[in-house]
Amino acid sequence: MGKSRFGWLRRLLSSLRFRLSAAFAVLLAAVLVIINYYPVQLMREQVIATKETELWSAATTLAAALESYPELTEDNVYNAVRLLDVMRERRILAADAGGIVIYDSSQTAAVVGRLALFPEMIAALSGRDVFRCRYSETAFESCAAVPVMRGGETAGAVYFYDYDTEQAARLRETQGDLYRLSIVLTAVSLLGIAAFMLIFSRRLGLLLRGVKRVGQGEYSYKIQMRGQDELSAIGSEFNVLTGQIQKNEEMRRQFVSDASHELKTPLASIRLLSDSILQTKNISREDVREFLTDINEEIERLTRISESLLDLTRLDAMPPARPVPCDVDATVRKCADLLRGSAAQYGVSIELHSGGRHLILADPDGLYQVVFNLMENAVKYNRRGGKVVAGVGTDKDMTVLTVCDTGIGIPPEHLNNIFQRFYRVDKTRSRATGGTGLGLAIVDEWVRNLGGRIEVRSEYGKGSEFTVRFVSYRKGGAGQ
Ligand code: ADP
Repeated sequence: MGKSRFGWLRRLLSSLRFRLSAAFAVLLAAVLVIINYYPVQLMREQVIATKETELWSAATTLAAALESYPELTEDNVYNAVRLLDVMRERRILAADAGGIVIYDSSQTAAVVGRLALFPEMIAALSGRDVFRCRYSETAFESCAAVPVMRGGETAGAVYFYDYDTEQAARLRETQGDLYRLSIVLTAVSLLGIAAFMLIFSRRLGLLLRGVKRVGQGEYSYKIQMRGQDELSAIGSEFNVLTGQIQKNEEMRRQFVSDASHELKTPLASIRLLSDSILQTKNISREDVREFLTDINEEIERLTRISESLLDLTRLDAMPPARPVPCDVDATVRKCADLLRGSAAQYGVSIELHSGGRHLILADPDGLYQVVFNLMENAVKYNRRGGKVVAGVGTDKDMTVLTVCDTGIGIPPEHLNNIFQRFYRVDKTRSRATGGTGLGLAIVDEWVRNLGGRIEVRSEYGKGSEFTVRFVSYRKGGAGQ
């Protein structure tokens, strides 16, 4: 219940837009606090520091002057104040050692003759310098009190009082200016972030829509996004990715349809042959035998196709095999031995050109499939009295396997396609020789899996040459 009721809130809190806006709001608030607080604080401290220096130096100057007078009287203080010109806009009091005010510069509220009982004066009379400043909304109110010494004793004290509304007004004005600046800044920033979020949301929406559509299987969907920013880069990378997925999907579909077609053909033959046995009355044992032999051949073909298909799927899904040093030369010899029987049937001879060991790092099964399929094709697509020449050599740090034949060759327009699954130049010939159309596809996959490269050269009617290059293996040195 609670889950669905607050689902919208959770979605909002976890949305990128919300998080970005929140981060921005926090940043803006921090900037506003800094703008509104620090300059004013700094100004206030500066005014107070100036006040302290001014008042204190005036008070100490006056106190020092009074120390040179023989007596602390109202006239003496009055003269000293005038002489030193320390009055300005301030109120100055002077008290004797007993704390009785003997001089007051105020015309209106003179307190001469009364006890000066305020704390600063009391502190000064006990021999200490005092400064205090307070800022209220309307004024800087500051005072300084300094003792007047005579013969090592406190003979009295002077007290300066300053009430400055001008500086306070200036400070308030600055504060107001900063406040107005903050409002403008906030408005501009909010407009900016709103515009950014609008554009960002729209672009993010485009990306999301693309991901959803492709997720629903619409692989041809392309994200149209202008600009040069990271989102456009993601968009174009996404388009490349979906293009690749689309290509793979098409290949997969084609493969499945080719595979079922290939499997259907032998199955149809088997069906036809078994129907013939069942429906022919009084069929002779020899005929049954002949039909069953044909059925057997079709079953063998089916087995070959399914084995090859399994090989291919395994290769697709398999990580590169853990390689071991394999001798290409020995593999060629082994395949030649296996193929000699069928080569003799086709009237084809096998010649080997090699010498010594040629080691590469490979999966032995993979290497065997590469060599066997190439040599088998060279035998199958040959002519009577023809030749197959298989050779292993070295070219710099590469081991080069070549399989040449003097067979029927491949027309140039087919050369680029022969490595595709189920591709055959001449279907009848391939079928007649038991081909599945998968041999070269398996070779190609294995060569890639082993980190090698395969090339084919062929002259139609004269023969073909397949060349495979592998990185040679050297003991203790770098392998593939
Ligand atoms: P298949 O099982 O039909 O032999 P492959 O994948 O091994 O399938 O080969 C694909 C096609 O390439 C063959 O059907 C054949 O037409 C052609 N081909 C392969 N090797 C040779 C060759 N040595 N000479 C001529 N044609 C070849």
